[in-house]
Amino acid sequence: MTEDDVTLVVSRLDTATSVTVITGAGLSAPSGVPTFRGTQGLWKNQRPEQLATPEAFAADPTKVWEWYNWRREQLAGCQPNKAHQVLSRWSRSSTPATVITQNVDGLHERADTARLLRFHGSIWELRCWHHCAAGETSWWDDTVPLVPCPPRCPHCNGIARPGVVWFGESIPQETLTRSLRAAHCDVFFTIGTSAVVHPAASLVHRAKQHGAFTVEINLEPTPASGDVDVSLQGSADQILLAIDEHRTT
Ligand code: NAD
Repeated sequence: MTEDDVTLVVSRLDTATSVTVITGAGLSAPSGVPTFRGTQGLWKNQRPEQLATPEAFAADPTKVWEWYNWRREQLAGCQPNKAHQVLSRWSRSSTPATVITQNVDGLHERADTARLLRFHGSIWELRCWHHCAAGETSWWDDTVPLVPCPPRCPHCNGIARPGVVWFGESIPQETLTRSLRAAHCDVFFTIGTSAVVHPAASLVHRAKQHGAFTVEINLEPTPASGDVDVSLQGSADQILLAIDEHRTT
């Protein structure tokens, strides 16, 4: 990352009338939350792709819930970092940024981010696995660990499932529509995401097609790096802080 890159990004931000940011697991890494693609994200040598699916849950709900209980326990001890705080400020500025997150950890919410679009739901919410009428709407439960395991639906006493979007499931239509709309912006950031999980990974390309100035912040190059206007390599918390300190709006 050069001083010139930061100056260019700041000048675009200062004149933008609409700003959209999509965040991934790397944004929460400085808070101590493991990412999925690194080895730290592994649990009992199982890949998330083997656990975060409807098929895995149908086959063994207790095993999947033990994994979620393990993740919830890790998250309970984590705090929002400087990157969450900067984005919260941007979401409340005179040109409020729209923040879309793939993270399910609740750290953007704890940093008080306005109008957050949660692409993949929340690990702190539960829904009825059996789609009972009252359990279609998710409910909040931050008990750690959840007991019994698997937890029950308070309405029908059937098994409850995590209120997240699993691999192979669709993004809630309203969230998708609002996110696609938000991609029509002046400046679009993609931060701390490996840019391989679609449709989230497509948003930066859509933004670029619509004329947005696009910026990536990541520790390493991703499939999106070649397509963005500026690719800033480094930790999301440090880079966002550096950009924020130079902003005049
Ligand atoms: P990912 O694990 O695939 O990729 C993380 C990316 O962050 C990598 O490209 C890595 O280089 C980058 N990174 C790591 N530390 C960073 C830092 N300090 N600063 C900047 N970048 C950093 O995660 P993903 O792209 O978000 O996508 C995968 C899916 O994983 C999503 O659906 C998400 O729901 C889920 N997930 C969520 C969490 C969470 O809620 N915190 C954690 C793990 C995975």
